[in-house]
Amino acid sequence: MDDRLFRNAMGKFATGVTVITTKVEEAVHGMTANAFMSVSLNPKLVLISIGHKAKMLEKIMAANKFVVNILSSDQKELSMHFAGQIKDEISVDFVTINDMPALKGSLANIVCNVKSTYIEGDHTLFIGEVTDLLLNDGEPLTYFEGNYGKMIKS
Ligand code: FAD
Repeated sequence: MDDRLFRNAMGKFATGVTVITTKVEEAVHGMTANAFMSVSLNPKLVLISIGHKAKMLEKIMAANKFVVNILSSDQKELSMHFAGQIKDEISVDFVTINDMPALKGSLANIVCNVKSTYIEGDHTLFIGEVTDLLLNDGEPLTYFEGNYGKMIKS
């Protein structure tokens, strides 16, 4: 099957946008990701999927912890920055939650300990057990067919 066809099919699934953050020996690293889902209520588990070429992979392996920051519609520039889509210097405001770096102003900061890891194809799936949550009001940043957007309420 053609890679482009597969990518186009996956792009038909509209998602929110997150930035995953983590910290290794006080060095903070962030990466934009939309492969995120809730897995379980009891215990509280979430899933992220990290490509094997991403620097984030070894960072999470080393830290054994990560934060999922769900972006608001005001944070498109941050998404582009943490995806390496813009090279301009921008100022990034982090907050610390239970000693983990999180993005200020996100709709949700979800702090996780890595519970299990599954290598599947060219990605590694991390199941995270949620240890801390911080919520803010606002509208979500969305992603569909490779384009950013905003939610239209019906
Ligand atoms: P880099 O490419 O080195 O870093 C990414 C950017 O973040 C760089 O600009 C870097 O300067 C900046 N940065 C990192 N840490 C900091 C810091 N502490 N302070 C300030 N800036 C910092 N890939 C996946 O594997 N899984 C996904 O689910 C996924 N979803 C995506 C969804 C969208 C909407 C987009 C646009 C991309 C997605 N990607 C995903 C691709 C991924 O975001 C990029 O490949 C990214 O560049 C990989 O990051 P990296 O860890 O290799 O680090």
